[in-house]
Order: sequence, then structure tokens, then C-alpha cells
Amino acid sequence: MPAQPERFIVALDQGTTSSRAVLVDRRGKLRGMAQHPFTQHYPQPGWVEHDPLEILSSQLAALTELLVANTIEPSQIDSIGITNQRETTVIWDRETGLPLANAIVWQCRRTAPLIEEFCADAAQKQRTTETTGLIPDAYFSASKLTWLLENTPGAAEAARAGRLAFGTVDSWLIWQLTRGAVHATDVTNASRTMLYDIHQGRWDPWLLERFGVPEALLPQVRPSSGDFGVTAHSGLPSGIPICGVAGDQQAALFGQCCFEAGQAKNTYGTGCFLLMHTGNQAAASKHQLVTTVAASAPGTTQTEYALEGSVFVAGALIQWLRDELGLIETADQSEELALLVPDTAGIYVVPAFTGLGAPHWDPHARGAIFGLTRGASKAHLVRAGLESLAYQVFDLVQAMEDDAKTRISVLNVDGGASVNNFLMQFQSDLLHPPLARPAIIESTALGAAYLAGLKTGFWRDLDELRGLRGDDRVFTPQMDEDKRQGLIAGWNDAVRRTR
Ligand code: ADP
Repeated sequence: MPAQPERFIVALDQGTTSSRAVLVDRRGKLRGMAQHPFTQHYPQPGWVEHDPLEILSSQLAALTELLVANTIEPSQIDSIGITNQRETTVIWDRETGLPLANAIVWQCRRTAPLIEEFCADAAQKQRTTETTGLIPDAYFSASKLTWLLENTPGAAEAARAGRLAFGTVDSWLIWQLTRGAVHATDVTNASRTMLYDIHQGRWDPWLLERFGVPEALLPQVRPSSGDFGVTAHSGLPSGIPICGVAGDQQAALFGQCCFEAGQAKNTYGTGCFLLMHTGNQAAASKHQLVTTVAASAPGTTQTEYALEGSVFVAGALIQWLRDELGLIETADQSEELALLVPDTAGIYVVPAFTGLGAPHWDPHARGAIFGLTRGASKAHLVRAGLESLAYQVFDLVQAMEDDAKTRISVLNVDGGASVNNFLMQFQSDLLHPPLARPAIIESTALGAAYLAGLKTGFWRDLDELRGLRGDDRVFTPQMDEDKRQGLIAGWNDAVRRTR
């Protein structure tokens, strides 16, 4: 008998600047990847838009290229998982299948005045936080949708005629891939709209009214590992089930096998995204971190939550050292330089380019370098730059542990800057729990694949997934405690002076 052809999960990773398609095998290995960038539109200062049709075409192109390049037959695809840039808002006409306007991207600040007005009513602001777990901001979908409904020609008529649909990027892709058969989103994406009650698990009527959103526009909310229909888009293999959907950060948490309270991951990219699983507890934050829904295995009956916080400037500081100061030629060189010196010679870089985030929350703070002496060298400065990433994550972890009333036992890391061994060692020295860097740092795509494969039985259960995880390297704390306390005191002092 001929051997059965190998089967795979395809993860569609729809990001802010590109759409990727990733092939994942049963052992959890990445066996192929295709990536298509798409256009960023900046119609006015502070505004950011994407063309939903270009999001779709780039995603389809990536998928097709992946299948062709790896000679994958449709019968070899078990299912599709989708992960996506969160909060980005799309409206489309259910009859024509066409968007009515460009998508408003999460980064877009056009609705900041609307949110300011909304938050002027303190009771309203507090109620929103209690219901959604979010601190009201233009970042989330609610005010973007209000803006689209008020400013898009034809939107009001289409809404009245029952033809208008709203969705985050996952919903838009699902609707297109199933040729309009399914209008749905998953709980993690819903929890970023600021229209969803994360405790009751439903769209919140009060918020819908406040933001002027008719309920008929909204997608159905389904579990992240669930049934999202089958492919029926022309030019694609048909009948492939879509079984996993999660927003990028929640997908990464799942891809890092953080399935239980106290498990956490940090992504070191342009900025950092730290998420800690808090089990069935929707922990409210005293430090203005947000409470969000975590992706769960199929059959989970009680909602699972996570706390989320971010560092605004992380890898971006390394880019700044490279592009603006010219101290390094490539980001990789930062590690070599940092290792040339035993310490920073007392230098601290506070990269508050756009203010200080959690737990300091000072939007007016600006970046500073402290402790310069005549002996300060390029290597000292670069080392201080790298260390500043770790100090910021350290502060964020302290705040999160305090909110969650739980200590992180292992911090799982990924993202572009997590390849820097010096940075990871220093981070572990500061934090104390060990850091685990998986062999595959594409946690986001892996998470979407896991969610799909658990639903179809491609993988049996969470234990099987835990068994697939291979660590490339574990970093354990090695620094002397007095030295550590001294460094932290120096950082705290630098932050104080910055404010
Ligand atoms: P994003 O997804 O946010 O675009 P990535 O996860 O691709 O970011 O990571 C890219 C970031 O990581 C860049 O800001 C870059 O400066 C930083 N980076 C990449 N390699 C290293 C390295 N070896 N050391 C420190 N920073 C690095």
C-alpha cells in the first residue's frame, strides 16, 4: 500500500505590515512559510489605514505560494488557523462582499478626541473598564467603528438595509474565505473591540448604544478553537475547515504553551508585549494593565483570562542606536559590543521616547541618558541600551505579578530581539525566574495552528502540545544579589530623574 501523504495545518498570520502563511507539521515544526507585504496608507498625520482587499489578496497570495512551493495537495491540509493584527476595523457590504472604506488600523489616532470626550465622564470610563477589561483608548475598535459609521458614504443606508457587516481582520478573512457563509470572530479578538463584556461573554448593549453600533452589524463570537466554516473562495482548495482563530498576542501565548495561571510570555519586537495567563480569574489591574480573554482548548467551559502590558520602545531603541546614532551597523552587533565591557560604567538609558508606560504612566516623560563620564564608550552605551529593554520588562513584570497575585515561574520569550543572548541572560538575572526561549520563536503562527489542530484532533490534547515544545535555550539567573539590587536602584533613580 502506498504511504499516506503527510498532513499539515496551515496558519494564516495576518500582521500589520505583511500577510504570512505557515505550514506546520504534526511534530509542531514549521515546514514552509510565504510572506506578502502590503501597503500602509497614511492619509493624514496620525492616521493609518489598510485596504481590506489588499489584506485579502496578500493573504491569499501567501497561502497559494506556500502550497505551490511545498507541493501540498488540498487533501494534505487538515485545517486552517487564523491569527491577526488586533483591533483593526473593517466594514463591508454583505451583498457585494466589498469593503465600504479602508480599514482603520490599530495604530490610527484619529478617534483620540472622541475617546477623550467619552472619558470626560469618569463613571462611563470606569464602567467600560469593568465590562471590557480595557482602558478606553482610540486603539480599540469601538471608536473606529463609530467613526466609520459616521463618515463613510453609504454606511448608514447599508446598515438600515441590513447589509452592513463589521469585523476585525479575522472576521473579514473568515467571511471572505467561506464566501459569506460565516460572519464570526473569536473571543480573543472580540475582547479587543471594547464592545464585548468579557465577564458575561456577550456584546454589551450599553457600550453598543454609547458607540452608536447597531447589533445587526456584529459577528457571532465563537471559541478560539472552534468551527468557523470551510473554505469556499474561488481559486482556493474548497472544503478545508477553519478551526482556530485568535488575535496575535493571545495566539502567541497559546503557541508558547502558556495554558495555566501564572504562565507568561514576552515578545521582544519593536515594542514588547507581555501576557500572563490568569486562569478563570479576570484580574483587575491597579497599574493600568489590561485584562483580556485568553484562547482556550476546545471544550473549555469557563472563560480563561490574561493580563497584558506593553513596553513602547524595545527593539526600536536598538534601531535608534543603529540608524540615528550609528553606533552599530546591525542589530546583532549590539550583543558583541555589550560583551566587550563588564558593565555599563554606571550608564542608564531611559528610552521614554513617547512617555513612560506601565507602571509609571507618564506621557510627558522623554528619553534620557544618565551617568555619562569621560570614560564612557560606545560599548558602554550600547550595553546600557540593551539593558534598558530588560529594566522596562522587569518593571512591567513587577506590576503584573502584583495585579495577578501570582509569581511568574518561567518567562517564555520570543520576537526578533529574543535571539540576543546577552539581553536574555541579563533579563533572567534581573527577574529571577528563568527565561525559556523555544526552538521555534514563531509563537503566533504556532498558536493559531495549535488551536485549529486541537479542534480537529490533529493533536490530542494540551499535554501532547507541551511535549512538542523544544527549548532552544533556558537562561537561569546568575547575578550576585547585591549587585542586582544596586543595578535596580540605579535604574529606579534614572527613571525618577526622567520624570
Ligand atoms: P516586529 O514584529 O515588532 O516588527 P520583530 O519581532 O521582527 O519585530 O523584531 C525586530 C526588532 O528586534 C527590531 O526592533 C530590532 O531592532 C530588534 N532586534 C533584532 N535582532 C536583535 C538583536 N540581535 N539584538 C537586539 N535587538 C534585535
